[in-house]
Amino acid sequence: MSKTPSLKDFRRIVIKVGSSLLVDSAAGGLKRDWLVSLVSDIAALHADKRDVLVVSSGAIALGRAVLKLPRGALRLEEAQAAAAVGQIALARCWAEVLGAHNIAAGQVLLTLGDTEERRRYLNARETIDKLLEWRAVPVINENDTVATTEIRYGDNDRLAARVATMTSADLLVLLSDIDGLYDKPPTAGSNASLVPVVPRITAAIEAMAGASGSELSRGGMVTKIEAGKIATTAGTHMVIASGRVPNPLQAIMQGGPCTWFLTPANPVTARKKWIAGSLEPRGALTIDAGAVKALRLGKSLLPAGVVKVEGTFGRGDAVIVRGPDGHEAGRGLIAYDADDADKIKGRSSADVMTILGYAGRTEMIHRDDLVLGGE
Ligand code: GLU
Repeated sequence: MSKTPSLKDFRRIVIKVGSSLLVDSAAGGLKRDWLVSLVSDIAALHADKRDVLVVSSGAIALGRAVLKLPRGALRLEEAQAAAAVGQIALARCWAEVLGAHNIAAGQVLLTLGDTEERRRYLNARETIDKLLEWRAVPVINENDTVATTEIRYGDNDRLAARVATMTSADLLVLLSDIDGLYDKPPTAGSNASLVPVVPRITAAIEAMAGASGSELSRGGMVTKIEAGKIATTAGTHMVIASGRVPNPLQAIMQGGPCTWFLTPANPVTARKKWIAGSLEPRGALTIDAGAVKALRLGKSLLPAGVVKVEGTFGRGDAVIVRGPDGHEAGRGLIAYDADDADKIKGRSSADVMTILGYAGRTEMIHRDDLVLGGE
């Protein structure tokens, strides 16, 4: 990839929008004109067959504005109640503005466990994948009304990075009120310069983030670098750019100020490495020769191709996949627990509902969750 990539290089893009861009605290409402301009950029990417996901902050800030709460820090339950009011207004605006381009918005509210626990992670990922398949734009936020300290991300930079890695996005765009990473605090009179590309997040880069006095900790450069680490280790590039301009995505494409954080990996490879290398298999599936052939062609593993199920595993656990001769053909994350996998082995996906009493996944192991030997 060239030194500074272009948004056009990416197929799945997560765009994180900070509260200060969306909510005008003084005037007490949403900055609709700005949102309209951002959404026209999003619509252009969408029309260009890109998958676009939005992580939108602003629930608490907008709730404050709607409720006309006085300035000053909010207690936890106040922030949560404000978010309950603000999230409705926020989601409605996104739905309306995207709707003007004939794009459906799908609200997804997550808590920490939804991305950190494997089973819930698979669930959230499948829902988001389905929205994307239907060409809707997921509009994601933390579920602020129920998330308390132990179960919250606290900042949407990290949430957005986890969403990006969970959905194997290849780009994360962080739009906030800062242009990018400066080599020293960009205060008046300092000759700080913007760092256009960070090939790798080193200790020196982290030190710059610590020193950039543009914002304080929450949502500041430190959390953005944290997000960058999560994203780039999982194969997702990241770009930080200012959202204080109209059409902020176009501005990035036209070479406006921003900082790119590059990843050496690609998201699917990084994910597959994780499946192949770091997970303890909990069981094994033996599959027939036809299924082995299908997997080699890049297909998913369907229940019909499975002849034997061994082990005690749950949905989302790693299992070994063996060919008819007993040799390991690959490994993957299974979409069913051991009992259910055993019941539907050898059967057509269309029969799953009748056998199990619920509509499960079509695939026993989705191809994105499967690593074949030699991959
Ligand atoms: N989830 C919070 C909100 O919507 C924002 C958190 C953040 O800005 O990082 O108000």
